[in-house]
Amino acid sequence: VFEYAPAPESAAIVDVRPSYGLFVGGEFTDGHGEPFKSVNPADETVLAEIARADEGDVDRAVAAARTAFERVWGPMPGAERAKYLYRIARIVQERSRELAVLESIDNGKPIRESRDVDVPLVAAHFFYYAGWADKLGHAGFGPDPRPLGVAGQIIPWNFPLLMLAWKIAPALACGNTVVLKPAETTPLTALLFADICRQADLPPGVVNIVTGAGDTGRALAEHPGVDKVAFTGSTDVGRQIARSAAGTAKRLTLELGGKAANIVFEDAALDQAVEGVVNGIFFNQGHVCCAGSRLLVQESVAEELLERLKTRMATLRVGDPLDKNTDVGAINSAAQLARIRELADAGEAEGAERWSPPCELPPQGFWFAPTVFTGVAQSHRIAREEIFGPVLSMLTFRTPEEAVTKANNTPYGLSAGIWTEKGSRILWTAQRLRAGVVWANTFNKFDPASPFGGYKESGFGREGGRHGLEGYLDA
Ligand code: NAD
Repeated sequence: VFEYAPAPESAAIVDVRPSYGLFVGGEFTDGHGEPFKSVNPADETVLAEIARADEGDVDRAVAAARTAFERVWGPMPGAERAKYLYRIARIVQERSRELAVLESIDNGKPIRESRDVDVPLVAAHFFYYAGWADKLGHAGFGPDPRPLGVAGQIIPWNFPLLMLAWKIAPALACGNTVVLKPAETTPLTALLFADICRQADLPPGVVNIVTGAGDTGRALAEHPGVDKVAFTGSTDVGRQIARSAAGTAKRLTLELGGKAANIVFEDAALDQAVEGVVNGIFFNQGHVCCAGSRLLVQESVAEELLERLKTRMATLRVGDPLDKNTDVGAINSAAQLARIRELADAGEAEGAERWSPPCELPPQGFWFAPTVFTGVAQSHRIAREEIFGPVLSMLTFRTPEEAVTKANNTPYGLSAGIWTEKGSRILWTAQRLRAGVVWANTFNKFDPASPFGGYKESGFGREGGRHGLEGYLDA
């Protein structure tokens, strides 16, 4: 079983070890399931062998979390807990380069994004929630808000480290202990985070990491010793978890899929809107729950916008995630690539027109060229289903009313974007959109102080901000 050694100051590239254990009770330990491999999606090389937690291992992790909750973390004054969270935030900053490189090779995302977006936001989340830990009694949660106990947290592969931070930072600030399961294709940064917890002298058992696939997740979600389940992932798995949680007294928050509309009105600053549309769908290869995957453009500017969009798409550099000039990295897995291909083919079969800029894709690894579909009808699968890849579906509208109707015509309700120079139109539109987050003249903007979460089949509960604490308090 490998144990992380702190990286030397000068480490340019992270040292990936051949095998990794589970992190339970402050120690790296063996798992009793069949180990699995984490693969670099940019070249299909095996990065490491990862221990798989079976039911017994999950049981051990939950027991470690319970002991830590009862003996140490639950009774600890908030000001003391805050010190640990601040320490973790600072170590994340110190080891940011290592974290960013590891995230990019395990996930496939461009290093520019992991370095400038993911890792800084991880540190920001720990700083932000550290600030709450000693103020919970003065924030309207009641005079004596209590932690829930042990939180079981299950996260997806698209923002492995950031989703971990969204889950762990508020849970710990409130006095809960956690057992977290990262996605099976991106476990490495969660294990590096485990090492950071040790470096911060976090008491053993406060954070436990169990690696594995859906079976490990199910064992955690159904475990009777877990007081709260926080899940981010697909709507299908979210439904299964909600069904199993219904039979117990567990609290539950679900952050699920999306099919966001990015709405461009005729008075928008078009070049700025094009940047927002490109960011909305090609950031992180479109593996973003709140991606602006449906572009709604007012008819009078549709042709002009499409022209400028294609010109801009032709400048996107697709390739090596570790190259600082890369804009679009690798698709995270063969399975996800197959799903994107299937939906793009369905788009063509249903009659939409497909366009990608000429671009040479690397011979090895999982790749998909940035793509836009025009002539898309609301009934098409590419207008209804979450593709979770670099594929944009363009539709048009004539009036603001029609834009709102089309934007809301989805079972999801996670986010939306509005592009217009008129403040009154922003307010009018935002009030009518059924979306948890509405961005105006920007997109994919995140801040630890802002709550994030969905309506309808995008789930319930909010993460981020003061609202993010509510899901972890018995108040
Ligand atoms: P997924 O649902 O397949 O997997 C998510 C996690 O759940 C993984 O860790 C997986 O191992 C685990 N899991 C799978 N089956 C399980 C089961 N039966 N019981 C318990 N756990 C189980 O999703 P994914 O493919 O990893 O991620 C993509 C999805 O996540 C997209 O739909 C995306 O929109 C969504 N997402 C949502 C948000 C949000 O904040 N709303 C953020 C990121 C991603």
